[in-house]
Amino acid sequence: MAITNMKLDKISRSRKTPGGKTIKIAKEKKAGHAICAVCGVKLMGVPKGKVNSISKLSKTQRRPQRPYAGVLCSNCSRNLFKSKIRVDGKTQSVDQTDLRLLKFLKSMKKK
Ligand SMILES: [Zn+2]
Repeated sequence: MAITNMKLDKISRSRKTPGGKTIKIAKEKKAGHAICAVCGVKLMGVPKGKVNSISKLSKTQRRPQRPYAGVLCSNCSRNLFKSKIRVDGKTQSVDQTDLRLLKFLKSMKKK
């Protein structure tokens, strides 16, 4: 899709060249925080930045060292592990688990 002048105004700033022409330079997009897939809370221990800068970090610096780190926050993953154990131990049925965690619970069962 072509960028219209109105769109360019929102994402750019104008600057004069040495030749006297006024040109528009597109601004760089800022990267946002990584958020939890279930509750939307900002994830701790996950660096903020573009993929290019994060890929230069070591693997241990990119996210915490536990299952579903970088996807779920600590509270949601704790609830997920609890419900996984309860479902496996048959003290809780799958219907009683949180609907938002059901997708992750099913992905754990495959492994
Ligand atoms: Zn969460």
